[in-house]
Amino acid sequence: MLSKKLEDALNEQVNAEMWSAYLYLSMSIYFNYEGRPGVANWFRIQFQEEQAHALALMDYLNARDAKAVLQPIAGVPESWDSVKDAFVATLEHEQKVTELINNLYALAEEEKDFATRQKLNTFVAEQVEEEETVRQIIDDLNLVGSDGTGLYQIDRQLATRTYVAPQL
Ligand code: MG
Repeated sequence: MLSKKLEDALNEQVNAEMWSAYLYLSMSIYFNYEGRPGVANWFRIQFQEEQAHALALMDYLNARDAKAVLQPIAGVPESWDSVKDAFVATLEHEQKVTELINNLYALAEEEKDFATRQKLNTFVAEQVEEEETVRQIIDDLNLVGSDGTGLYQIDRQLATRTYVAPQL
């Protein structure tokens, strides 16, 4: 049986993933408005991915005969100074999420809950991928700097991203 401590921590993570979804949806809305449809597309798919993370945790709680509890989602920023600013904020946020997942993993070890530890392995791997992807986009943005053509090409490239459900 899932300990109460772990159940609460997993529910907190559900909320954190939903907040991430909300953050990226806000970025998507903002960049659509700013005439960067490719960036908006990228963040809209990121929004879907975060919802998938939350749902995977909810499904796991259910599988362990525990109940997912939906807490209010805190407000998110509504604007960013630049595309790069948004991706830097994304990287910083994902680094925080990685820390949250690591703390959850440590708690699962402490509670000797090996099933939860195994479930979290996929989340640990997912975070490596998230951080790497965003770091690559920031590298590309640094390369082009304020060059309009370069930024246009990056926007076009981000427009090609399609949703692939994460394997969790
Ligand atoms: Mg996530």
